[in-house]
Amino acid sequence: GKELSKIYGNGESRVVALDKVNLEITANDFISIIGPSGSGKSTLLHLLSGLDKPTSGSLTYNGKDIYSFTDRELSAFRRQRIGFIFQQFNLLPVLTAKENIIMPLLLDKKQPDDTYLKQLTDLLGISDRLSHLPHELSGGQQQRVAIARALIAQPDIIFADEPTGNLDSKSGSEVIEIMKDIWRKMGKTLVIITHDSAIARMADRQFVIIDGVLREVKQDEILL
Ligand code: ATP
Ligand code: MG
Repeated sequence: GKELSKIYGNGESRVVALDKVNLEITANDFISIIGPSGSGKSTLLHLLSGLDKPTSGSLTYNGKDIYSFTDRELSAFRRQRIGFIFQQFNLLPVLTAKENIIMPLLLDKKQPDDTYLKQLTDLLGISDRLSHLPHELSGGQQQRVAIARALIAQPDIIFADEPTGNLDSKSGSEVIEIMKDIWRKMGKTLVIITHDSAIARMADRQFVIIDGVLREVKQDEILL
């Protein structure tokens, strides 16, 4: 992303949520972005993943200008190339764990590869919970189902917005360990937004965002 800016509203309600953010993500990066509430973290993730468009600036993915895609191309691109993990898990309550996991494939009229599904759910430790409904799972298990859903279409890049925000610190660190394990074994690119400096420090490249300004920090410079 180059010189990405996002301005919401106008007049008295004008908010500069992002101010000329430059961020280059390379395959296999594990990036963390930490910043206070309202600093522009979710806005940045929405722009990087094509969920929203910037006021100015550009985003290229393997040389392609994402914001010039039609809505249809963009949603196909998102489903096939990008995995999302949210703070609220966002599982569909009436579907089983397995149905939630394979939903992105069904939307593209594809069938799951059973070997990959098994490998993924084994890795996440949820193979024996696949017929459960979300309310029958613990928070950490629900988030692991959400991680499997984010990975089922074998995307290139995973964006996680506060993936541990709704978990106690023990299940939170378990979820991050699992994500890191998957990142190592599957060679995914991982971008995690967090309030938690311990999690931020687990990443290879660490960024801080304050008032919409993004800055890369040296390893272990995050002390707070
Ligand atoms: P948090 O840690 O609380 O999730 P954040 O860093 O994700 O915060 P953003 O959601 O990106 O912050 O918001 C950045 C700024 O933009 C905030 O000041 C917010 O009020 C403003 N903002 C976000 N979305 C909108 C919107 N749709 N309309 C107007 N202002 C918005
Ligand atoms: Mg946010």
